[in-house]
Amino acid sequence: MHTATLVLARSNVLVVLAIVAAAGCVNELNPHTREADADHNVAFVAQDDTLNSQLTTDAEGYRVTPVIDRRGEPFNRIGVRYDVAGTVVAEGRARHDDSWSDWSELTSTYVDDSVHNGLLDVEADSDGAQLRFKLDDGASLRFLVTETFVFAPAAADVDLEVDAEAASEDLQGLAADGLVVTRSQWGARSRSCGPTHQPNRLTIHHTDTPNNDSISMPARVRQIQNYHINTRGWCDVGYHFLIGQDARVYQGRVENVLGAHAAGANTDNVGISFIGTFDDAAPSSAMLDAAARIMKSMSRTYGIALNRDRVQGHRQVGTTDTSCPGDALYNGLSDLISRAQGSTGGGTDSTTTACSLVQVDTDTLNIRPDANTSRAPIGSLTLGQTATRLASVTGQTVNGTSRWYRVQRGSVVGYISGAYASCAN
Ligand SMILES: [Zn+2]
Repeated sequence: MHTATLVLARSNVLVVLAIVAAAGCVNELNPHTREADADHNVAFVAQDDTLNSQLTTDAEGYRVTPVIDRRGEPFNRIGVRYDVAGTVVAEGRARHDDSWSDWSELTSTYVDDSVHNGLLDVEADSDGAQLRFKLDDGASLRFLVTETFVFAPAAADVDLEVDAEAASEDLQGLAADGLVVTRSQWGARSRSCGPTHQPNRLTIHHTDTPNNDSISMPARVRQIQNYHINTRGWCDVGYHFLIGQDARVYQGRVENVLGAHAAGANTDNVGISFIGTFDDAAPSSAMLDAAARIMKSMSRTYGIALNRDRVQGHRQVGTTDTSCPGDALYNGLSDLISRAQGSTGGGTDSTTTACSLVQVDTDTLNIRPDANTSRAPIGSLTLGQTATRLASVTGQTVNGTSRWYRVQRGSVVGYISGAYASCAN
């Protein structure tokens, strides 16, 4: 059995559910394989004037959404993300067998200034939802996105605890040097997810968050990660990469780990999500170029062809009936693929990205399964030996450098510290 404990983390209002396993309760905390059937599934999304024109005001002064009709798509949880300044009371209700529940306050799972995540658990097989918000005088909702979905009880086994020591277990992504904003740079909660997979296709999404965002991209990515973990019950942010409105690429779940972005089609599939809502407006050219760089990098690393067969929009794959990644972005996919084909694949360190062979500068250098020294070596190299460089990644700092090389020597593929190896060509 598990005991759920509420913990207040740091000084903000992030509420973390820590699942404490009792003695004798081992090996069942493996939520990850369930994620093969997970993705986002938006029921309502709007922002600014378009949003506020759809809200009405009830007798108690709440701003009320239209009924979100989900007949044929039964659910037991409502997931909500919204932006609003000031204090707010957020409530929801659900329709079941043609009758409405009472209003209930949403469970708040994340607040960062004006950005909120919440959820409401409702009767199983509900088929309609409605939300209402009591706002400060003069305040208005700037953004609202709502999902309705079946939250599987088993997903409550997900270990939601923030575990600083798990950082060393974060698998390493293989994006070209300097191409991505790393998880530590955007302030990711450390997660250890699995299983690994072998990327062979790319799926393009949008995040259903505001365009012309008023908050920083790292803050928006943190909100998305928290929503995916605490409201959806996933192991980590569902996407592998997020394309910021600042034209930077944010590393989500590392790409060689199964994601949660295209239900029924997550295996071997790398999810790339543009931050924003691109039904009407297209992403900026700078965002498209940023996405093109990571696509080229993935193509080079994993041999993924850059064509319409291997690069698809979310609506084309899996089992979810979705408009993702929005008409404007979807209609630009061929242009995006052309940009990727012509991209350099990014990387700020042209010296090392051009290097295909590395040479050992010390007597013996261990090959590790990850870019750190915490796990047992899987092989070793001796002074002067070379190995094929597959990628450079950022890992544990060793002797003053955090650069590691992902290398192949014979049949062994692993990581060596850049502190004791250098480019040989
Ligand atoms: Zn999507």
